[in-house]
Amino acid sequence: MPTATAEQIKQWLDEYAILIRRHAAELTELDRLIGDADHGANMQRGMERVQKLNAAEFADSAALLKRTGMTLVSSVGGSSGPLYGTFFIRMASTIAEAEDETNLIDAATLGKALREGVAGIAARGKAEAGDKTMLDVWYPALDAYDEAVTQGANIHEALVAASTAAETAAEATIPMIARKGRASYLGNRSAGVKDPGAASSVLLLKAAADTFTPVK
Ligand code: ADP
Ligand code: MG
Repeated sequence: MPTATAEQIKQWLDEYAILIRRHAAELTELDRLIGDADHGANMQRGMERVQKLNAAEFADSAALLKRTGMTLVSSVGGSSGPLYGTFFIRMASTIAEAEDETNLIDAATLGKALREGVAGIAARGKAEAGDKTMLDVWYPALDAYDEAVTQGANIHEALVAASTAAETAAEATIPMIARKGRASYLGNRSAGVKDPGAASSVLLLKAAADTFTPVK
């Protein structure tokens, strides 16, 4: 059963922009401790551009997601731009394949699209689970999502499960030693701080849980 419209995709992106603005200082502080103190500013700059996109100008949610990814790649300096950009572009191609004339997306399709997006992050960043990156939030979050869908959860319930798992997973990056990205330059000294990209990924899932509701 179709459960999410293109309009909800736009609401998701707008909500993410709001959460990024609200948490920008916090994200930058994490990045100050184990990086170069720009993650909040990077994400805020990118998401402000995305927020300005007019959903009505796009034929479907795949087109909007693709432009979102391209906007992030072109406007965000730093590794998070290409990584989040690839995520949305890869999501877009999965959704384009699944989308029909009703322009609706069901829970299974969204899960598949998120999984493809995350595969894009992994391919681009060449990171693995345990490297202390945003992937350490995405893998457990997607597992929780799929598990919820398997047990009959609707799109909103599955995203709540994913978002809850994401929060726990982000905390679990604190003791990790970074093996990818700028934090890896610190070696053992990267332990003791939450990964900034893990923290911003939690916000993206939170925004999704707050936005997507089943549509008949
Ligand atoms: P930069 O590190 O270039 O300053 P940001 O500060 O905006 O970029 O983003 C840093 C975040 O990007 C990290 O916290 C981490 O989650 C993520 N990241 C960095 N490198 C990789 C990688 N190779 N694979 C996956 N994620 C990465
Ligand atoms: Mg940085």
